[in-house]
Amino acid sequence: MCVCIVQQFMAKARAPRRTLDSYTIKSINKTIRAGDCVLMRPSDSSKPSYVAKVEKIESDGRGSVKVHVRWYYRPEESIGGRRQFHGSKEVFLSDHYDVQSADTIEGKCTVHTFKSYTKLDAVGNDDFFCRFEYNSSTGAFNPDRVAVYCKCEMPYNPDDLMVQCEGCTDWFHPACIDMTPEEAKRLEHFFCQNCSSEDQKKLLNSHNASRHSDAKVDTKRRRR
Ligand SMILES: [Zn+2]
Ligand SMILES: [Zn+2]
Repeated sequence: MCVCIVQQFMAKARAPRRTLDSYTIKSINKTIRAGDCVLMRPSDSSKPSYVAKVEKIESDGRGSVKVHVRWYYRPEESIGGRRQFHGSKEVFLSDHYDVQSADTIEGKCTVHTFKSYTKLDAVGNDDFFCRFEYNSSTGAFNPDRVAVYCKCEMPYNPDDLMVQCEGCTDWFHPACIDMTPEEAKRLEHFFCQNCSSEDQKKLLNSHNASRHSDAKVDTKRRRR
């Protein structure tokens, strides 16, 4: 009896499950490795792909390959939902781990830091950014505080056009300073209400006269 149990145990321990350094998904001809970010097919095909970070790739020895993943949540999947300052390509690194068939991977993607995302010249379909970790049971974010800008005191949404005040260097949404985005783009210089003292108006006029430089108007991508 004792011998039998030992044999069973050893047989299990010898099961040919092994960790793979990389795995090529034939349907998309892409090789994935631990640490890669991937898009995974949702069960509901009307939903956007899931975004995940591959932690480990494992073969069960019977031809099936599983990936251990850590999910990124989209804002609408979080308890608090999507907020105005969330970017369209924003995802939260969650504490939710899972094991999925490698076949559900439909592409690779890049999850940038917030800083590097704001420096991208062009945002591709496969570019995302993450500035928060997310606790999927409590809905809490880490960090729980972020810098806010503008009169509306909102965290920065990298999708939004903002203009920078040359006085206080704060950034403003055109709508919050009664401007259209087109007007904001045409601005050569901008001082917010608080900074519009006589001194700055003089500076503004002299700058205008010399047609020195373009006002800092962009999506803040060059800011950091
Ligand atoms: Zn604003
Ligand atoms: Zn100002």
